[in-house]
Amino acid sequence: MSQYNHVALIGLGLLASSISLAMRRAGMQAQITGTARSQTTRDTALKIGLVDAVFDSAAEAVKGADLVILCAPVGAMGMIAEEIGPYLAKGATITDVGSVKRAVVEAVQPHMPDNVHFIPSHPMAGTEKSGPEAGFAALFDNRWCLMTPLPENDHTAVQRLSGFWTALGANVEMMEVDHHDLVASVISHAPHLIAYTMVGVADGMNRVAKTEVVNYSAAGFRDFTRIAASDPTMWRDVFLNNRDATLEVLGRFTEELFALQRAIRTGDGDFLFDYFTRTRDIRRSIIDAGQDTDAPDFGRIKEEN
Ligand code: NAP
Repeated sequence: MSQYNHVALIGLGLLASSISLAMRRAGMQAQITGTARSQTTRDTALKIGLVDAVFDSAAEAVKGADLVILCAPVGAMGMIAEEIGPYLAKGATITDVGSVKRAVVEAVQPHMPDNVHFIPSHPMAGTEKSGPEAGFAALFDNRWCLMTPLPENDHTAVQRLSGFWTALGANVEMMEVDHHDLVASVISHAPHLIAYTMVGVADGMNRVAKTEVVNYSAAGFRDFTRIAASDPTMWRDVFLNNRDATLEVLGRFTEELFALQRAIRTGDGDFLFDYFTRTRDIRRSIIDAGQDTDAPDFGRIKEEN
C-alpha cells in the first residue's frame, strides 16, 4: 500500500470523520490536518482526535499535504478549490467525496495548478447522520468507491489514490464522470427525492393524524423517514448540481408510476404482480452482492439490543 504522509480533510463531517477513523484502523501513520466552516466543528474534531491539527482556513490546512480530500457539500467545492489552489504542495493529489461529479469537476478543476493531481472520487457510503461525531471506521467496508479519473490524470497517482480507498475498506471502480452522475441519480439521488416527497405527502395529509403517521410508521413509512432525515444542505446541493440526470430519472419514474396507477385503477393484477416480482429480484441481487442483509427487522432488532 502506497501511503500518504500528510492528509488534509476540508470539511469535518460524517465522511471526513469516517475517513480519519478508517485511516487509523488501517494503521496509517499520516499526519491529519483539517478545517471546517464553524469553530464548533473545528473544536469538536480536534477534541475527539479526528485531526492532529485544525486550522481556521482551508488554505492553512492544506499546506504540505500530499493528499487533500474535499469533504464539504458539493456547492462549496468551487469556493474551497479557489482558496486552496495557491497553497497546494507540488505533486499533491486532490480528491473529493462529493455525490456529484461533473459539477465538482467544473467547479474545482479551473483552480488546480498544473503540478498537482486532481482525481475526483465518490465513496458510495453514507448515513442520514452528519457532523464530526457521526463517523465510524467501518463506513466504507465492502462499499463501492467510484473514482472518475480525468483524461490528464497520471496513472501512478490514480493507482495510489485507489490503494488509499481500498485500505479504508472500499472496493474501487473507475467510471466516466457523466456516467457516474446518471448512475448516482438512479441509485441515490432520485430515491432520496422520492423519500422526501413521500414524507412530505404524509405530513401534508390532514385526514391522517400526525400521531397516526408516527405510531404506525413501521408499516413501511419509517424506511422513507430515515432517508428523508438526510442533511438538507447536502441534498439541496446534490439536486442543484445533478439536475439533468435527476430530471431524466424522475421522468422515467413518473411514467412508471402512471403505469402502476393505471393498473390499480383498471384492476390489472397481473401487471402489479409481475412488476413486484421483478423488483423483488433486484432486492435479492443486492443481498447476494453483500450490499445488505435480509434480516426481516426493518432496523428494530438493532434498536432494541
Ligand atoms: P456533513 O457531515 O454535513 O459535513 C460537512 C462538513 O463540511 C462540515 O464539517 C461543514 O462544516 C463543512 N463545510 C461546509 N461548508 C464548508 C466550507 N465552505 N469550507 C469548509 N468546510 C465546509 O456532510 P457529509 O455527509 O460528510 O458530506 C460531505 C460530502 O460527502 C458531500 O459533498 C456529500 O455529497 C458527500 N457524500 C455524502 C454521503 C452521505 O451519505 N452523507 C455519502 C457519500 C458522499 P460545519 O460543520 O462547520 O458546517
